Amino acid sequence: MPGYGRPNPDEERRRRDQLLRKAAQGDQRPAAAGGVRGTGADGGSFRYVSGSYRASLGDPVVPAYPSRFDLHTHSRRSDGILEPADLVAQAAAAGVRVLALTDHDTLAGARELCAPGVPPLPLELIAGVEINSLARDMALPDGELHILGLGVDTGDDLFEATLQRQRDYRVTRFTRITDRLRVLGYPVDEQVDQYLASSGGVPGASMGRPQIARCLVAAGFASSVEDAMQRLLIRGKPAFVPREGLGPAEAISAIRGAGGLPSLAHFSEADARFDLVKELAAIGLGGIEVNYRHFDVQTTESVKAVARDLRLVPTGGSDYHGDTETYAQAHSTLFVPDEVGMDLLSALGRGRVARSLEASAS
Ligand SMILES: [Zn+2]
Ligand SMILES: [Zn+2]
Repeated sequence: MPGYGRPNPDEERRRRDQLLRKAAQGDQRPAAAGGVRGTGADGGSFRYVSGSYRASLGDPVVPAYPSRFDLHTHSRRSDGILEPADLVAQAAAAGVRVLALTDHDTLAGARELCAPGVPPLPLELIAGVEINSLARDMALPDGELHILGLGVDTGDDLFEATLQRQRDYRVTRFTRITDRLRVLGYPVDEQVDQYLASSGGVPGASMGRPQIARCLVAAGFASSVEDAMQRLLIRGKPAFVPREGLGPAEAISAIRGAGGLPSLAHFSEADARFDLVKELAAIGLGGIEVNYRHFDVQTTESVKAVARDLRLVPTGGSDYHGDTETYAQAHSTLFVPDEVGMDLLSALGRGRVARSLEASAS
């Protein structure tokens, strides 16, 4: 086994697995202020170029005005870079009035932001999640359909138990990937330890491949997060480990059960796979991400037509993670039309917020 010269690797691994599991444990209590911040390992460019994330090559969307809505973002509670509070502050500074925090498989960030004693937020927060559901028999390039759950109830115990199972699967997968990397000669154990020391102890954290990619960059095994993904971590590459967890129908029904609106994220193939989206709509899909930051004009229009034909609520967002840019930079290329945000607020039963935004705009 090349490149692994630690004195007691088994003991190290046991300790790390314990930390990983501890991090993934759901906890309704907010994390202690100040104890969770850290720099961790980051760097490199992030463009998760696989399947439905593929960069579009048509005309870029030029925002007609600064977006007041961002309905798809990630914090450090899953695979983003920023602490939830910092994300909120930066979004508000960029002019966002309604922000959905949609970390993968965890509501930890939203709970922290809305915990008793936390000062009022400078914007309206929508508690959300993103569930990477398994779609193995659907002939999709990445084998996954990502479902956003917007406006879910953060106090729903059944939903939290479902998310906890998802996080448990993530821990197992994370460990399998780092095991495989070690065998391949790319040990990242030290970098993972550093990452866990800086933020992995936060209850309810959700581990994934982007964190491993950042560790590979920090260890000098990859030039960027994208490089690590492309050469090692995506499907078909040597350190790829298949995901386990919910299928699309289960994800949709879990989100509905928690009172949220399930919206199909960044599915650029929506028009080509119209029948698939139609099937999902028939089993409870309520929205589809039309104004996705990485869609070009043509893709945006084609997904918008699908939303119209299937009467799905259009949603839109930046999918901000923070590897390569500040929030302000991401926001400058995001266009979520006001009417899209207003309709979403109505769909979530937050008409009062929509009316107050309308009043402040006029
Ligand atoms: Zn996604
Ligand atoms: Zn996302």
